[in-house]
Amino acid sequence: MENIIKDRAWLEINTKNLEHNIEEIKRVIPNKTKIMAIVKANAYGHGMIEIATQLNKIGINDFAVASLSEAIELRENNIKGDILILGYTHFKDIPYVIKYNLIQTVVDYEYANKINNMKLETKVRMHIKINTGMNRIGENYQNTDKIIQIYQMKNIQIEGVFTHLSVSDSNEKSDIEFTKNQINNFYNDIEKIRNAGYTLGKTHIQAGFGILNYPELQCDYVRPGIIMYGNYNLPDTVTKVKLELKPVATLKARITSVKVIQAGESISYGRTFISQKSMKIASVSVGYADGYPRSLSGKGAKVLVNGKYAEVVGRVCMDQIVIDVSDIDNIVEGDIVTLIGKEKEILAENISKKAGTIASELLSRLGTRIERIVI
Ligand SMILES: *Cc1c(COP(=O)(O)O)cnc(C)c1O
Repeated sequence: MENIIKDRAWLEINTKNLEHNIEEIKRVIPNKTKIMAIVKANAYGHGMIEIATQLNKIGINDFAVASLSEAIELRENNIKGDILILGYTHFKDIPYVIKYNLIQTVVDYEYANKINNMKLETKVRMHIKINTGMNRIGENYQNTDKIIQIYQMKNIQIEGVFTHLSVSDSNEKSDIEFTKNQINNFYNDIEKIRNAGYTLGKTHIQAGFGILNYPELQCDYVRPGIIMYGNYNLPDTVTKVKLELKPVATLKARITSVKVIQAGESISYGRTFISQKSMKIASVSVGYADGYPRSLSGKGAKVLVNGKYAEVVGRVCMDQIVIDVSDIDNIVEGDIVTLIGKEKEILAENISKKAGTIASELLSRLGTRIERIVI
């Protein structure tokens, strides 16, 4: 690539804020509990290698990803420590799990059995996922005997056992009851495994909301994702313990053109926006292919420019948006616009709500065209 200025749209990664959020999480978890940093989906869009490298520097040496290819990418970029693959890996690819010294999740008993029957150089490191109600992956908590049988498998080295909560974000009475049942059923299983004489390995239950609403749990790991990146999924989140989070990512782009239009003129595809009066508008070099959602079209989304809010007008295009800068002075081509950041209107939780989604989706879909710049 030529050394062109790659700045039509970019994501600034604030490592101080990442460190701050880690400290905040540590403040509310038990002393013995370690953080397993969730860096799947390109670290929720923040840049997996940039984030993991930084986490290594501040003493985080346990990671989790969704897929084998993400795990290999971490290793190929010299990320140190344990890497758990939370999702499914095809059994034919298990030799790569061994080659790169990774840990694979046991999806269910049959999966473990299949792997146990393979000819492998060494034992496969695995954590058993127990399904306590999420009904996604994991061996059912009621099949305790099968779970214990996995511990007996010769080609598998069980180093941990975990579950995942499905409504730990909720303050509804029935949801709290459901969560407590999930937790109890998990603990009943691990008690039986222990009584059967097996070494459990590491235990873990809580993702972000599990930490915030059930901080009393005493597991070996917690698995924070979105909160580590400094955001809640939705605005006005109420949790049992409160963290002071600082968003790690700031999405910026450039103003590419400024113009004045007359009353009655339309903006962007579909002519969904018709000006009521003469307006000063500006084009900005970011669009839905970069992850700025098309569903924000016509929703009154705001961006920040020269310290003031400007509204997105008309449809969001693939590579560009148009904003109303009528009330903002001295706007010129090349000026910087902030689309997602720490200010109220452009918090990921507020933007994502307007787009009909959650911050995790908004951030994890930030595109490959956007350069990640560590500051
Ligand atoms: C994605 C994921 C997490 C992190 O979830 P957050 O809600 O972002 O904290 C934790 N555990 C598992 C199993 C996951 O899939």
